[in-house]
Amino acid sequence: MKTVIVGAVAGGMSAATRLRRLDPEADIVVFERGEHVSYANCGLPYHVGGVIADREALLLNTPDSLRARFDLDVRVRTEVAAIDRDRQAVQVREIDGGRRYEEHYDRLVLSPGAAPFVPDLPGIERAMTLRSVTDADRLTTLIAEQRPRTAVVVGGGFIGLETAENLRRRGLPVDLVELDRQVLAPLDPEMVTAVHAELRRHGVRVHCGTALTKVLPAAVELTDGRHLDADLVLLAIGVRPETGLARAAGLAIGPRGGIAVDDAMRTSDPHIFAVGDAVEKIDRIDGETTLIPLANIANRQGRLAADTIAGRPGRLQGRLGTAIVQIFDLTVAVTGWNEKRLRAAGRPYHAIHTHPASHAGYYPGAQPMSLKLLFDPHDGRILGAQAVGGDGVDKRIDVLATAIRAGLTAADLADLELAYAPAFGSAKDPVNMLGYIADNLRTDGQHSLQWHELDDALADGATLVDVRTAAEHSAGHIPGSINLPLDELRDHLDDLPDSDLIVYCQVGQRGHTATALLTGLGHRAINLDGGYRTWQAGN
Ligand code: FAD
Repeated sequence: MKTVIVGAVAGGMSAATRLRRLDPEADIVVFERGEHVSYANCGLPYHVGGVIADREALLLNTPDSLRARFDLDVRVRTEVAAIDRDRQAVQVREIDGGRRYEEHYDRLVLSPGAAPFVPDLPGIERAMTLRSVTDADRLTTLIAEQRPRTAVVVGGGFIGLETAENLRRRGLPVDLVELDRQVLAPLDPEMVTAVHAELRRHGVRVHCGTALTKVLPAAVELTDGRHLDADLVLLAIGVRPETGLARAAGLAIGPRGGIAVDDAMRTSDPHIFAVGDAVEKIDRIDGETTLIPLANIANRQGRLAADTIAGRPGRLQGRLGTAIVQIFDLTVAVTGWNEKRLRAAGRPYHAIHTHPASHAGYYPGAQPMSLKLLFDPHDGRILGAQAVGGDGVDKRIDVLATAIRAGLTAADLADLELAYAPAFGSAKDPVNMLGYIADNLRTDGQHSLQWHELDDALADGATLVDVRTAAEHSAGHIPGSINLPLDELRDHLDDLPDSDLIVYCQVGQRGHTATALLTGLGHRAINLDGGYRTWQAGN
């Protein structure tokens, strides 16, 4: 049986190599339009910045190495121009020389990826994008030969931020332009504050709420009329699934504009499979279709397509979009839905914020971290999580992504047995702490107040009580709060007004103790979730 694969990077190569392992006799031909195969596109920004100094390190394989190890027939600089479904053949065009020919298939796997979106704006041809090794070469050549003195990165998503950081590494002043009010859309606004600060701290000038209108010879023009100097313009405003081949062949396209596939990666044609950034996935939280252009999913889908072709039943479950990015000294990781999305969908949720240390505070080197958990108030199902900090952000989000996948509730997190020694975590790990807080909300019937609900609660006549020490209070507090330190609270109960009480501390923990005490004594008290730190980040 002959399998033809279109696209020789993440999804395509996973399919090809898995198929070879499953069937030593299979005839496998892979077409790749570009020059390189099986390369590390996730490493491209770091090659531009010089972190991955050796360009060859990005090239994980060559057609020759794939022939030697896997007996694959990989043809680079060869584009599949059309699919003839009736004759089960692809029309192929060699990019050098233009020779055209036809290749028959029994099974066809499409993994054409997603292309950077390039808006139709004056001067846009001067803007560069970063998708392939060839793009990275263009960028490094331009930096070396034309010695740009200014750079503008358009788009504050993962690729935009990684590239901005790496252009700074090359010593370029960088302006970052983002249409939204914040960079990194997967984060909620109070979680992104630290990211904006980190970018500024490293000399990236962030311009939010404005967009590109024009690329000029040495500058860009923005919707607010401003001009920013830009010898180099890097465009990273999202990607679009490459569906041209599939559309022309009449394959079903999903509502989000990606190739429609079933959970075994079959398209609407039983002989054709599709994987990776070009296809729609099922969102694990609501079961709707979604587009998630991430390498883990592309690899998983490639393997699954090969399994299906080889007659091994398997299915892809819903996806969470678990992702992580380094922004200078900060790590940001997310899984599932954020609060903005839950609110927009009108879906009920509880939110929890904590600000733990990466490991036991008494052991040197602990780094601060902010964690946010979102879960269903009725059944406790975890809906999403966000983590921002340094060490240990990655493992917390991975545990939470695994917990969602396993169907654990937020309160179940309290009982997870996680590896602990002082250098790595705490006896009550940050993930356990999220579970304790969720459990308190569930068992004590205690609600907490979110940072964005505070103004309304105060307008309704509530009294704000800061239970931190006098020194902490005088170093910075929420306006209008009275200071009654937790350790002195019992002595001052008579001083409390007969109104609703909103209690806060630095991160929410002492506030919880104070709230429990006050509620037990008959007061109407509620804790400000995440304490002063979350409130400050949100304001
Ligand atoms: P691709 O890897 O894009 O491969 C598709 C290939 O198909 C391309 O090489 C293209 O030339 C070829 N092709 C298309 N049409 C044809 C045709 N008609 N004929 C022949 N060949 C064709 N993901 C993460 O999870 N983590 C990260 O840190 C991360 N960082 C990234 C950084 C950058 C700069 C980029 C660009 C992407 C990053 N990604 C990251 C995303 C990840 O690389 C993609 O999700 C993944 O590569 C998708 O795999 P794919 O096989 O669907 O498509």
